[in-house]
Amino acid sequence: MKYIFVAGGVMSGIGKGVATASIGRILKSKGFRVTAIKIDPYINVDAGTMNPVEHGEVFVTEDGTECDQDIGNYERFLDENIYTDNYMTTGRVYQSVINKERNLEYNGKCVEVVPDIPNEVIATIKRAGKKVKADFVLIEIGGTVGEYQNLLFLEAARMLKIVHPRDVLFILVSYMPVPEMIGEMKTKPTQYAVRTLNSAGIQPDIILARSIMSLDEQRKKKLSNFCNVQADDIISAPDVASIYEVPINFEKEDLGNRILKKFNLKSRQSNLKDWDNLVKVIKNSPEPIEIGIVGKYFESGKFTLTDSYISVIEAVKHACFAQHRKPRITWVSAEDFEKNPKLLKNLNKFHGIIVPGGFGNRGVEGKIKTIEYCRKNNIPFLGLCLGMQLAVIEFSRNVCGLKDATSREFKQKSNNIVIDVMSDQKELIKEKKYGGTMRLGAYECEIKENTISQKSYGLKNISERHRHRYELNNKYRQILQDNGMIMAGLNNSKDLVEIIELKDHPFFVATQFHPEFKSRPLKPHPLFLEFIRTATKK
Ligand code: GLN
Repeated sequence: MKYIFVAGGVMSGIGKGVATASIGRILKSKGFRVTAIKIDPYINVDAGTMNPVEHGEVFVTEDGTECDQDIGNYERFLDENIYTDNYMTTGRVYQSVINKERNLEYNGKCVEVVPDIPNEVIATIKRAGKKVKADFVLIEIGGTVGEYQNLLFLEAARMLKIVHPRDVLFILVSYMPVPEMIGEMKTKPTQYAVRTLNSAGIQPDIILARSIMSLDEQRKKKLSNFCNVQADDIISAPDVASIYEVPINFEKEDLGNRILKKFNLKSRQSNLKDWDNLVKVIKNSPEPIEIGIVGKYFESGKFTLTDSYISVIEAVKHACFAQHRKPRITWVSAEDFEKNPKLLKNLNKFHGIIVPGGFGNRGVEGKIKTIEYCRKNNIPFLGLCLGMQLAVIEFSRNVCGLKDATSREFKQKSNNIVIDVMSDQKELIKEKKYGGTMRLGAYECEIKENTISQKSYGLKNISERHRHRYELNNKYRQILQDNGMIMAGLNNSKDLVEIIELKDHPFFVATQFHPEFKSRPLKPHPLFLEFIRTATKK
């Protein structure tokens, strides 16, 4: 097994995750088995307790781990499921070391930060690799080199190389600014990043140079001299219009074979034909399709963050690419409709509207108004998790006449709690056991005949990923159905409604699960595909 560590230099947010995922895609296309691990240096045991505005989307794996959005990138690029062992945080590693200590697994030894914490990291990396019999394990170390937080993880990388000197490679993804007033690409910040990495005992083998443009020979030579890396091992990573171009760009400089050479492995042809076609489609599909996402996790001061809904966005894109359309996504703040309902008519300009997942009260009434508008005006509507719960509330209030219909999440007492807390969640909430305790990961769902869902999936039994505590209150199923709502998907073992639909509407589908987590660029999700297909007809 070969290990490739990817660390970041100069600043965060330069696409380390996509770079790691792209390297994985390239190696996979050369016929190797590849898996990828994300290390996040924070204390949170998982990403589930963090606000998405703070940290981006919480991605959910098949086996129910709430993790960093980069795991989503790995799944999308590798077209492989990634499991729990492939995600580590400082909190998680310490928790597992402490548990072992409590179980006397250290045989009376004094347990120390070094080497026991890095050893735990190494053991986890090896376990994750073995589980899928990987030829290559990619390990992305979150944050930027020089941060106090990720030192122990760099230490693990250094220690692994001592034991397996020929099987460990270090890649630095670094940033080259081109300041406008200077008009020249500057290498100095990267030189410092390499020095910092050196002081942790690590010499990068390859540098991926992120910048607005490709590097010229002069800059490569300079970096090579100052950073002690061969010029051929400095690979340009210029800004691209679509992240799916990144593997193609890397291969222009033969990154895959550079990596193999470092491991003394023979060069191999990569096969990125299908990927290349995808990029061509993306570039040659000018006709736009307008999709509105009505949510609340995208405002941060003067900036709009899109990371909170990254899997939803990517799923929309995949479905659009498959139909040779250019996705144009607009962020709509649900709260605006609460202040000014007249704005609702602006929703007409969209071919389709998505109300994604979320937690808590804020923005809920605006989303309900949005859903009502979509229902009455035949705008294709896709509701995801909270989006489904709100669709049920809207229908209960405005069609079934249950004016005070609400969810237990928003109101403890009301005559019509149409969305209630799942029975096994009650105790957990009472005891404030919030971390990792939602209904998480993959569960079965049976699809009803003659529904849009059945048409989309073409299957009777499906499995999708979840992340929720509340559910459609079964007491209201009958009245909802009597008024025209279709229970289009059910989880029979728990008697849960998983999909609702409306009759006499071009596309009104909402799911308790999160289909977006399973969409892949070359395998768009069936529900998103059907949603976009209907939207193109609007
Ligand atoms: N807040 C809702 C619940 O917990 C919906 C969660 C979500 O949208 N992921 O059930």
